[in-house]
Amino acid sequence: MAIDLVKADEHFIHVYNRSVCFVKGEDVYLYDDAGKRYLDFTAGIAVNALGYSNEEFKNALKDQIDKIIHTSNLYFSEPAIKATEYITKATGLSKVFFTNSGAEAIEGALKVARKYAYNKNPESKGEIIAMNHSFHGRTMGAVAVTGTEHYRTPFEPLVGGVKFADYNDLDSVKALVTPDTCAIILETVQGEGGLTPATEEFIKGVRALCDENDICMILDEIQCGMGRTGYLYAYQRYGIKPDVVTTAKALGCGVPVGAFVANEKYGKAMVPGDHGSTYGGNPLATAAVCKVYEIFEKDHIVEHVNEVAAYLDSALKGIVERHSDKVKGLRGVGLMRGLALADDVAVGDVIAACLKEGLVVVSAGGNVLRMVPPLVIEKEHVDEAVKVIEKVLG
Ligand SMILES: *Cc1c(COP(=O)(O)O)cnc(C)c1O
Repeated sequence: MAIDLVKADEHFIHVYNRSVCFVKGEDVYLYDDAGKRYLDFTAGIAVNALGYSNEEFKNALKDQIDKIIHTSNLYFSEPAIKATEYITKATGLSKVFFTNSGAEAIEGALKVARKYAYNKNPESKGEIIAMNHSFHGRTMGAVAVTGTEHYRTPFEPLVGGVKFADYNDLDSVKALVTPDTCAIILETVQGEGGLTPATEEFIKGVRALCDENDICMILDEIQCGMGRTGYLYAYQRYGIKPDVVTTAKALGCGVPVGAFVANEKYGKAMVPGDHGSTYGGNPLATAAVCKVYEIFEKDHIVEHVNEVAAYLDSALKGIVERHSDKVKGLRGVGLMRGLALADDVAVGDVIAACLKEGLVVVSAGGNVLRMVPPLVIEKEHVDEAVKVIEKVLG
């Protein structure tokens, strides 16, 4: 019996237009409450990197549940200790704080930058430079640095001292720097904003600007991190390192967990009493993190992404060529891709039609059809997705 979704929606605060009720996942497919099968090119919004049938991952969670789920951050736990080792090795940064979500990781990263500036000069105004079309989450601090007006305006006054520059325009960033600037925050690849990677010139320019002015460079890799662009962290493509990186989404592959990770200099700015979280990085969450990193290494997930991403790239180029009336261009990198649709093609309609045909896709800012599939998809899944998209566009 299918569930009555109209009735089900009555008691949710209506901030999402939900349409389907998924009841299980298998491999890279989802099944709804009527038993219909869907190829998943959304992965719970870039979360379920390992798909739905990694028994080793599931068993690690079951084992941890049998041992202990939660202890609070007043005590050490084995999974959390081990997770810091994995995450510092993966990021090249040395100090970790675990959170329950991406937005919380952003809040923490902003606090680190403010605290460092405060330690230097208690009179610092703690100004932050963020980017237009950025997305950093829905809590007040994260919204304050999100460069989309309609996410911000109804919730003002937000965290103050934030100015917005244009992504990939170094001069627009330079123009906003003052002696009170404590942080520059950007996504290495803009996600919701339309799947735009930073240019090498821009990201290296921001790095140099931060070095010259003792400003904290915060890279938000909540979506583009964890192998999705063909590097474990997307900044590794450019040979630079941020002072603080935020990570979440695929970090726990479905178990809610995030982290902000700082270098020694910024990590040390925080002292007992400065920050905390009851759940953050609890044994269950960090057991997930450990197993995810272990599987990434053992199963060569990043190498696999590069292989299948090249195949997806040429397949999508084919779509752009054959449907130039409906598709304006190709966006993104790795397994974080988008089709920019023509102005008279509504992305919402395309998504609904794909869903009907058994393909789960999502939108990104403007009129972009976003694909962020599990990282374990194979070429045959790319073929299957392309077939559906072509049918819908035709
Ligand atoms: C999803 C996302 C966030 C917010 O993460 P939540 O877990 O939803 O709080 C922040 N930044 C980026 C780039 C994201 O894609």
